[in-house]
Amino acid sequence: MSEFDYDLFVIGGGSGGVRAGRLAAAMGKRVAIAEEYRFGGTCVIRGCVPKKLFVYASQFPEHFEDAAGYGWTVGETRFDWPTLIANKDREIARLEGLYRRGLENAGAHILESRAVLEGPHSVRIVAEGRTVTARHILIATGGRPSPHPALPGAEHTIASNEAFHLEALPRAIAIAGGGYIAVEFANIFHGLGVETTLVYRGKEILGRFDMDMRRGLHAAMEAKGIRILTQAIAHGVEKRPDGRLDIALSNDERLTVDQFMLAIGRTPNTEGLGLDTAGVETGPGGEIVVDDYSRTSVRHIYAVGDVTNRVQLTPVAIHEAMCFIDTVYRDRPAKPDFDAIATAVFSQPEIGTVGLSEDEAGKRFDEVEIYRAEFRPMRHTLSGRQERTIMKLVVDAATRRVVGAHVLGPDAGEMAQLIGIAVKAKLTKDDFDATMAVHPSAAEELVTMYAPSYLVRNGERV
Ligand code: NDP
Repeated sequence: MSEFDYDLFVIGGGSGGVRAGRLAAAMGKRVAIAEEYRFGGTCVIRGCVPKKLFVYASQFPEHFEDAAGYGWTVGETRFDWPTLIANKDREIARLEGLYRRGLENAGAHILESRAVLEGPHSVRIVAEGRTVTARHILIATGGRPSPHPALPGAEHTIASNEAFHLEALPRAIAIAGGGYIAVEFANIFHGLGVETTLVYRGKEILGRFDMDMRRGLHAAMEAKGIRILTQAIAHGVEKRPDGRLDIALSNDERLTVDQFMLAIGRTPNTEGLGLDTAGVETGPGGEIVVDDYSRTSVRHIYAVGDVTNRVQLTPVAIHEAMCFIDTVYRDRPAKPDFDAIATAVFSQPEIGTVGLSEDEAGKRFDEVEIYRAEFRPMRHTLSGRQERTIMKLVVDAATRRVVGAHVLGPDAGEMAQLIGIAVKAKLTKDDFDATMAVHPSAAEELVTMYAPSYLVRNGERV
């Protein structure tokens, strides 16, 4: 008879928690998993998945327009927001069911409750008013949109959570931020016919991405009609008698919109979790501090996913969860590997990227070869759309290794997944050159750029 009620208690039923709970239960461990809201976490319930469905919805007007060049006449079109919301909600409910069933089938004990640490091995199940014990505890409580309490009138703003459930599609929206969420939602709302303004405090959207991607996307979004205000922040928001919002900006401009969405980063969910009681250390942003193996300051308590604020991406949380299983239950200590993570921004056009940007590579290597192609995708030859695709390979000249690949254009996210394998496998430019092209495709450009467009030597473009 074990001295504990469970081998593993997982707090949080998102991507990381569910993966770890399901795998541990399938291995015969006695697992409980507590979730206070809905299984699936941010990604499934109010993040990646519904976002992508919204992206699809928002692309139809351009498809209708593009059809003309191919001989089609598209009749009158009309968009119904409540239909989209209802269909999206049905799909999310289906996915939530799959997450639950996966846990149940593996034998995990599901608890629909908030769970709070009461000691190093004990967890209070709040909804049931009882406390249980576990040999190991995994905290996977994720994060939430960062609020902006310093902004006068912040109570009138929304964040991505609310954007998925608006009762009506706004006529005009302003979005603050220049990261993934701000950019993706600006494109979604614009595509759905909303007058959209992005307000970003920096010089160029999407910091940390390759500059060609940043500038290219900025230009493409403006060409569509999205207003992008850079080096601007909101100073205050006031609600007018008609319900609309007046936003005062730092550049003395005023915007009048129906919704003001903040997308200014995400904050780890660590408040009120009993971390102090259990002795779990947190960092300056409230994130749980972990070592290379996702272990917290308490030996048998681990944390994975956004609550640790390492890399806030679903596949990273899942990878961390699998490393946790290897480390704790398979006697194969595994450190999550954060090198060369391929990622996509589901903007319109998309960005797909893996590895180092030109600027980062320029700082790291003496000489860098840049292969760059810019062209109009074939689809747009007949559609007449002026949007351009940019592709870029960043190569360390000394080793010939492709250390970065960046794509702006249709299906760039899909391309990032595949080119991510090549960059992760440390393939060289010669391997790319030896690869036969798939023709006619946009991706073939990645293996047919034979001569460098320019070099970066000691950080300077030559
Ligand atoms: P990001 O960290 O990507 O971007 C936050 C943005 O908000 C930055 O542009 C930042 O500016 C700006 N900002 C921060 N604080 C303020 C402030 N006080 N006033 C004005 N602007 C501010 O966060 P997101 O919220 O967009 O997304 C959170 C995370 O979710 C991302 O990091 C990403 O990992 C993940 N995600 C991934 C997606 C995907 O894989 N496709 C999609 C959506 C989210 P500055 O650049 O100057 O710091």
